[in-house]
Amino acid sequence: MDEDATVQTYQNYIGGEWVSSVSGRTFENRNPANDDEVIGLFQDSTTSDVEAALAAAARAYDTWRLTPAPKRAELLLAAAARLVQHKEAFARDMTREMGKVLEETRGDVQEAIDMTQFMAGEGRRQYGQTVPSELRDKFAMSVRQPLGVCSMITPWNFPMAIPSWKIAPALVCGNTVVLKPATLTPLSAVNFVKVLEDVGIPPGVVNLVTGGAEVGTRMATHDVVKVVSFTGSTVVGRLVNQNAAPGFKKVHLEMGGKNVIVVMDDAQLELAVEGCLWGGFGTTGQRCTAASRVVVHEKVYDVFLREFAARAKALRVGNGLDEQTQMGPSVSESQLQTVMKYVEIGRAEGATLVTGGHRLDTGAYARGWFHEPTIFGDVAPGMRIAQEEIFGPVVSVMRCRSLDEAIAIGNGVAYGLSASIYTRDINKAFTAMRDMYTGIFYVNAPTIGAEVHLPFGGTKATGNGHREAGTAALDVFSEWKSIYVDFSGRLQRAQIDT
Ligand code: NAD
Repeated sequence: MDEDATVQTYQNYIGGEWVSSVSGRTFENRNPANDDEVIGLFQDSTTSDVEAALAAAARAYDTWRLTPAPKRAELLLAAAARLVQHKEAFARDMTREMGKVLEETRGDVQEAIDMTQFMAGEGRRQYGQTVPSELRDKFAMSVRQPLGVCSMITPWNFPMAIPSWKIAPALVCGNTVVLKPATLTPLSAVNFVKVLEDVGIPPGVVNLVTGGAEVGTRMATHDVVKVVSFTGSTVVGRLVNQNAAPGFKKVHLEMGGKNVIVVMDDAQLELAVEGCLWGGFGTTGQRCTAASRVVVHEKVYDVFLREFAARAKALRVGNGLDEQTQMGPSVSESQLQTVMKYVEIGRAEGATLVTGGHRLDTGAYARGWFHEPTIFGDVAPGMRIAQEEIFGPVVSVMRCRSLDEAIAIGNGVAYGLSASIYTRDINKAFTAMRDMYTGIFYVNAPTIGAEVHLPFGGTKATGNGHREAGTAALDVFSEWKSIYVDFSGRLQRAQIDT
């Protein structure tokens, strides 16, 4: 190990101050493309740190909720402009801490820019309803109200985009925030929070506490917390839900996926291959929306699989900082071990390993967590590699004989985030669009690539009914108050007086 004495230590951000954890401990953030490189040391926080951050957020709420929404939005707009200025530097930091290629980390920062700009617009909207009253001389309307302190627990695969998806709508609605990023990617969260500090978000409105499950648990249980917004695995999401339930908190969960691309016999095959490559191996398969399953009509199965495998084999794997690289490493050693375990499971289940299947660990790969792009063919829908989220560069390809069968396979998993169909038949496209039970659906495009102004989220074990992004996010971070103003000067009884 190459311990660098100049490695920077990053602190928590609580009540407008950068402070160390009371634990006195830090944890390392290492580059998954080169484990010798320590990106930084971050606070290994405790419940006391969380409690201090939550108290700061509770104090700040009294003032922030009364700040006019357009004023709150001006700060978001300024933050978006600052993100634009620092986009390249933040993208490089992100590639170093989690491995995905520069083009994609630039996209991640861009998503934070887009979301922050979009939510700034909501400072002048947050439309409620004004409706006629059933009684004379009475006015009826509904307005959005903030909820208070929001806990935000985020994963490592979109380390700036996901915090921005939660923080921007929460702030524009008038809430205050404590953010806990994944321990694998705290630097991108620090970069984002620093931008908010730099543009003048008042002390305590946004707080950052780094650390692991202990921190997240307290954020889900503390009395002062009104909303818990979690993105991560289904296993942890269930725990968060259980922990938050006794306090009747509003819990927003975005969890795992096992997304499918259906390729029909009339599809433009070259386009479908491109889509499956990007959907399956973009972000090294580590997207919640990754196309980890492909269902191909039997008439084109062989030709599709041959071309898909050839293209996957040709992908340039390497350090994401190299502009030539098309696929980076897995985020961590343990994520790589998971990938390798599932490759073994796939073999043992009798699927055909069409390409890949091995760890890359020699030469330039020796110090990183690299794996070959891997495709299994002859996969049966019930196999574990077709059912469980692997979160790595492994795609399971299955055959179908009809659209109905493809839809049944598509829906036949525990998750329901994203699905797609490649076809030139509009009737098939609309049927699949209606019948795939997912929160997101694409036609002639892969399962990844959501835009910030539409709702984002999934069904079944992917989500609990809330949606991120778009104006749907406002429903997570605000609640409705219906207001009736009677200016008749007399008692009027609804449903009784006419
Ligand atoms: P994870 O569940 O391991 O961790 C997510 C966050 O929860 C991290 O910050 C982690 O430190 C924290 N955490 C861990 N234990 C906790 C506990 N007991 N209480 C509270 N917080 C706790 O997930 P990950 O490995 O960081 O991310 C990968 C997962 O995220 C995949 O399953 C992926 O599908 C999912 N994901 C979903 C979406 C979506 O929008 N649906 C988006 C991105 C990622």
